[in-house]
Amino acid sequence: MRQGAIETSSDSTTTYDVNHGLRPEMPEGYVEWDAPMYREYQHYFDRLAQRIHLDPAVALRLRVPKRIVMVSVPARMDDGTLSLFQGYRVQHNTTLGPCKGGIRYSADVNLGEICLMAMLMTLKCALVGLPLGGAKGGVLCDPHRLSRDELQKITRRYTTEIIRVIGPDHDIPAPDMGTDADVMGWIMDTYSLAKGYAVPSVVTGKPIAIGGTHGREQATGVGVCYALRAAARHISFPFGEGARVIVQGFGNVGSHAARKIASMGSTVIGVSDMTGAVYHPAGLDLEAVREYLAQHRYLKGFPGGEALTNAELLEQPCDILIPAATSHQITEQNADKIQARVIAEGANAALSTGGSAMLEERGVVIIPDILANAGGVVTSYFEWVQGLQNFFWTERRVNSELQRVMDDAFERVYLVSQKERLGMRDASLAVACRRIEAAYQSRGLFP
Ligand code: GLU
Repeated sequence: MRQGAIETSSDSTTTYDVNHGLRPEMPEGYVEWDAPMYREYQHYFDRLAQRIHLDPAVALRLRVPKRIVMVSVPARMDDGTLSLFQGYRVQHNTTLGPCKGGIRYSADVNLGEICLMAMLMTLKCALVGLPLGGAKGGVLCDPHRLSRDELQKITRRYTTEIIRVIGPDHDIPAPDMGTDADVMGWIMDTYSLAKGYAVPSVVTGKPIAIGGTHGREQATGVGVCYALRAAARHISFPFGEGARVIVQGFGNVGSHAARKIASMGSTVIGVSDMTGAVYHPAGLDLEAVREYLAQHRYLKGFPGGEALTNAELLEQPCDILIPAATSHQITEQNADKIQARVIAEGANAALSTGGSAMLEERGVVIIPDILANAGGVVTSYFEWVQGLQNFFWTERRVNSELQRVMDDAFERVYLVSQKERLGMRDASLAVACRRIEAAYQSRGLFP
C-alpha cells in the first residue's frame, strides 16, 4: 500500500464517502499542529522574543498559525483503485502581505511540520524584506512511488480543495520538497480553469512558458552560496579555493548548491540523496554524479567515492556543511559529532533549535534556514512581481537582484548579531520579528 494513502476497492459499487474519509488508519499527528517539532521551535521563539523585548502581543500572534485548512484528496490510481490522501494548507501570518510558501509532497508530511514550515516562511519573508506573509502546504504521499499521471490527479484535486484560500492577492504556492515546476503548472491550470481566465500569478516556480522566471529553479541553492560568500566577508573560514564542502541532499536545493559552490572554487567532498551518501576526501566529480543520476535516478552504487549513510556523511570533517535534505537532520543527538566549521541550512529546520544551540556554543557558525535558503522565495517574489506587471526580466537581472537581497539580508543580520551579541540564528529571528512588529504597530489590532 502506498504510504500516506488509504486504498479502497476499485469496485465502482463501493459506497465510500471519500470527501469525509478522515480514517483511523491515518498516521499519528495528522491533525495535531502542536507536534513536538513545532513545540520545540515555539519554545525557542518564546525565549528569544523575551530576550529581544518583542511586544508580547506580537509574540503571542506569531507563535500560532492564522488559518489551517485540511482537505481530503481522493485520486484514481493508474491501477484503477481509489486512494485518499491527506492535504494541508497552513497560512501563518499576513501582516506584511499575501501568504507565500511552498507545497510539499512527502511520506513524512504532518500538520505540525507544515505549521512550523509556515511560521518559518513568515519569518523568512520578513527577514529579507519581502511584502509577503508565510504559508506552507503539503500532501501526505510518496511522490517517488507515484506516476506523473497520478501526481497530476492528486495536484488538481488538492488545488480544487484549497481553491478558496489561494490566489495572487491571497496566498501564492510554490515548489517545495517533492514538487516541481510541472506541479505548479497543473495548479495554475486548475485554478485558471475554475476562474475562466488565465491566472499565472497564483503560483511561482512555474515553467517559463507560462510566466515563470529565469533563475527560479536554481535560486535556493545558488542563494545558499551567496549567503556563505557574504559570511566569508566577515567571518574567517575557508571559502572558495581550498574549502571542503559536504552537501546533504541532492534535490533542487542541494544539487544546485553543490554545483554553484564548486563553480566558486570550493571542493565538494560529499553528497547524498535518500538512498545514501558518497564521500571522497579529495573531491567528487560532480559531472559524473550528474550523469550517474541521469542514468540510475538514485545515487546508490555511484562508483566515484566511498559509500556512507546520510548520518555518517554529516559527521565527516569539512569546512562547510550544507544540510539540504530534510528537517531535523542535526539534533542534540548528533550535534557533538559534527565537525564542520560553518553550517548553512539549505533545508528548512535541518537543525533542531537544540542541536543548533549546542553547535553555536562550540563556535560553529550557523547560517539559519530563514537566511541561508531565502533565495528561493526571493526569486519567487521576483516572479510574482514580473507576472503582475507582465514585464519579464533577463536572467542576469534576476541574478544580480538576488545577490543584492541576499547580501543586504546577511549584512543586517550580522550587524545585529554583533551589536546585540546574538548568534546568527537569534539575530535572524530578531530582524524578522522586528519588521513584523513595526507592521503590526502601523496596522493596529482590530477590533
Ligand atoms: N519552498 C521554498 C521555501 O521553503 C520557497 C517558497 C516560495 O518560493 O514561495 O522557502
